[in-house]
Amino acid sequence: MRLVERMTMTPNKCLTCGAGNVEGDDGEIGPFIDLEVEVGWGDSVYICPLCTLRIALLSGFITPDDKKDLEAQIANLEGQVHDLGASLAEKERRLSAISEGRKAIRKEREEREKVAG
Ligand SMILES: [Zn+2]
Repeated sequence: MRLVERMTMTPNKCLTCGAGNVEGDDGEIGPFIDLEVEVGWGDSVYICPLCTLRIALLSGFITPDDKKDLEAQIANLEGQVHDLGASLAEKERRLSAISEGRKAIRKEREEREKVAG
């Protein structure tokens, strides 16, 4: 099985829909899948891009548009994770400063209590 730009061997048409080397909705011709098998008396077997997409969707794969949408959602979520990580680091820094301040106050009180006796 291989990808080809044009269906060059007979019959030059898609096995499932019968389309030839014609432009798709995107204005492109092909690429086609050449199954590299012979049927009947040496006929080749090709699958056009639209039928390939239909087969992929039936097999549980997603469309290129869905892929783009999911990639955009992932990028957005990664941005949110980054922002939340930065916010958490800032809060941890402040909590650490508060904790250090409390330790210093406690130490000062203990020293004053020793002096006061
Ligand atoms: Zn087809």
